[in-house]
Amino acid sequence: MKTIGVIGGMSWESSAEYYRLLNRHAKRRLGGHHNARSLLLTVDFAAVEASQRAGDWTALGAQMADAARHLEAGGADLVILATNTMHRVCESIEQAITIPFLHIADPTGGALRAAGIKRVALLGTRYTMEHTFYTGRLRERYALDTLIPNEDDRADVHRIIYDELCHGVIEDESRRTYQRVIEELASRGAQAVILGCTEITLLIKPEDSVLPVFDTTALHAQAAVDWAIEREHQATAAM
Ligand code: GLU
Repeated sequence: MKTIGVIGGMSWESSAEYYRLLNRHAKRRLGGHHNARSLLLTVDFAAVEASQRAGDWTALGAQMADAARHLEAGGADLVILATNTMHRVCESIEQAITIPFLHIADPTGGALRAAGIKRVALLGTRYTMEHTFYTGRLRERYALDTLIPNEDDRADVHRIIYDELCHGVIEDESRRTYQRVIEELASRGAQAVILGCTEITLLIKPEDSVLPVFDTTALHAQAAVDWAIEREHQATAAM
């Protein structure tokens, strides 16, 4: 199969989950001792988080572009960015490389459309919920109407991501908070919920949610493996 390049470390807790999911899906598809051919470049999240807080998206774009270039130089055939938030600077990545980039919102948008969903709740960092890079793509490409939590709930969802999940801390109390937020969004008409931050899957499982769950981490990892297998088949068929 082709080589999947992963820009990770944001946080490494979710990158570890990606690593597991990439290999598990490759094994599911190919059987035996197969796993996913991949390269993982882990950036230092301390610097990333500080630049996010400072609103320095230009510096973040340069950092992500640099990571993507290293992956291409190392032999990756595809680049994925293992965080929703940092897709705010995905153009910087796309411009830096000649290999494809698989945007995290695309497999999720496709899965929601295939399920017939039109109004969807979005949970993620403040940047993902409040800026337009994510909800805009879902609307323009997948005709999805996105609902986000109210101001207080957004603060809780954001805080739990950075203060707990990114440190590998999983609290029942925080799960209850997310469950309450999802219930509130369901009462406003959401038909499903996007786990739009790659750590939320560590806290919320499908059975914890009153709404059907669309987990960006799992859908992204799965789409990358499917791409790597299909592309390899196409290359060998053309020979
Ligand atoms: N992993 C998270 C996301 O998917 C948040 C960490 C970050 O700021 O990149 O948005």
